[in-house]
Amino acid sequence: MKILVANIGSTSIKWRLFDCSNSAERLLHKGGFERVTDYPKAIEDCLAELKQANAIASESELSAVGFKTVIAKNVTGCVRLDDRVLQAMADYNGLAPAHNPPYITGIKLFAQRMPGVPLIALFETAFHQFAPEASQRYAVPQTWLDIGVRRWGFHGASHKFIAERSAELLCRPDVAERARQLYVNNGAAKISGAPLRVVSCHLGGSSSVTGILNGASIGTSMGMSPQSGLPQNNRVGDLDAEALPYVVKTLGISIEEAQRQLTKEGGLKGLSGISNDIRDIGEAAQKGDAKAKLALDAYVASARHWIGSYFLQLNGADAIVFTAGIGENRADMRAAICANLGNLGIKIDAEKNNSTRATEAVISAADSAVKIFVIPTNEELVVARETKRFLETKKN
Ligand code: AMP
Repeated sequence: MKILVANIGSTSIKWRLFDCSNSAERLLHKGGFERVTDYPKAIEDCLAELKQANAIASESELSAVGFKTVIAKNVTGCVRLDDRVLQAMADYNGLAPAHNPPYITGIKLFAQRMPGVPLIALFETAFHQFAPEASQRYAVPQTWLDIGVRRWGFHGASHKFIAERSAELLCRPDVAERARQLYVNNGAAKISGAPLRVVSCHLGGSSSVTGILNGASIGTSMGMSPQSGLPQNNRVGDLDAEALPYVVKTLGISIEEAQRQLTKEGGLKGLSGISNDIRDIGEAAQKGDAKAKLALDAYVASARHWIGSYFLQLNGADAIVFTAGIGENRADMRAAICANLGNLGIKIDAEKNNSTRATEAVISAADSAVKIFVIPTNEELVVARETKRFLETKKN
């Protein structure tokens, strides 16, 4: 069973092809194109590369194409991408303007190009759907809630991968299995042992922190849109709702321009005034740039704020996990985030931390009550697994 997972951005397409015939999935091929202007051609080129690499002989060999879609109105989980779901995604274009429109365009092109191949979506909101209602709600009037103003949460595929893998590393196969089966039984499965508490820190171009109890999300730092939580690369993160009308009136700019600035000129870029990439900001900070240093400090403070929130709600943690571009590669950020937490039983081992880059590792000190892990995420694998399960268990 060959499943292609396509990751579609506004100017990029990346893919991974898995052989999911056995429970140990095999990555057959991965690739991608940046600066895409002609999507039909990009899809053709992707198929050509797969054939050239002998990964497939023809597209009819694909059992499905899976997509890591972001958000849709009244739809989450793993579903077939039919007209109803595409319309539900379009209904929430305004909540994910950078993600939903290109996905909808790309999915329609895949449907035209390979009409016989099932197209399956795993929504980024899915992992958070079983969180307690109280952590999903904003304190808004019912009419706002009725049109979708609530915390949805994102990075679901990544946090689900961390839920499964961290449970394995903590020798809790019961919890790993519960996390794996989350969408089969709607989070209802019980576990046999003590509660397992994990704080998952997906720190990358966009970042979120999630509290995970027994393999399921209890809450996450991103809210109604990916424009929330920690400072993102060039998106603002959390912001007081009054700031928007205030800026529109005071600077005399349109709401659209204010939104553009929040999305394109905010976050680490806005704070540092240098770049949206932590590598550039880190270099500038080392050379003494005060704004770059401030951007790093604000990012660390926000990460600690959210880790602290879930640490309290979970009554402590068995593990804190770092993943994604910054979490996997930046020992300096991990060290800053974990600094001075000895009283909470959180102690990082400087040597282990400094020698860990883009690889799975335990980076906590031997006497740390809380394990600290680096776990490279694998969102595409989660999409492939759920797609396979969908094909095997659902009819439509
Ligand atoms: P992601 O969204 O997970 O791809 O993460 C992207 C961000 O992670 C970039 O903006 C960088 O700031 C950071 N990053 C990615 N790769 C590296 C690396 N090899 N070394 C240091 N930082 C990295």
